[in-house]
Amino acid sequence: MNILEKTPDAVAWNLVSAELTKAIAKFPTWPTDPLHAVAVLGEEFGELTKAVLQLVYEPHKSTSDDVRSEAVQTAAMAIRFIESLDAYIYARGAQHQQHIS
Ligand SMILES: [Mg+2]
Repeated sequence: MNILEKTPDAVAWNLVSAELTKAIAKFPTWPTDPLHAVAVLGEEFGELTKAVLQLVYEPHKSTSDDVRSEAVQTAAMAIRFIESLDAYIYARGAQHQQHIS
């Protein structure tokens, strides 16, 4: 490999870093409730899953660029999740009774 070529790791980190910067600029706050935080991460993973599924089964609906973009967004949200590990408050949410009808 040419010394001036970027390694795949460097390319991936650059994409994730740029996405992280963009995401924090757009949404500067992050949930303190870890279930809301993991839901944000899960939402991005869901979009990645959909992009991959569509590229496999409905290739006219998705592209490899879509897959890359969703993978980068998922990685960025995983980093946001990790960065807040010391800030999460692990508290049960409100619940209510359900009845058999
Ligand atoms: Mg997405």
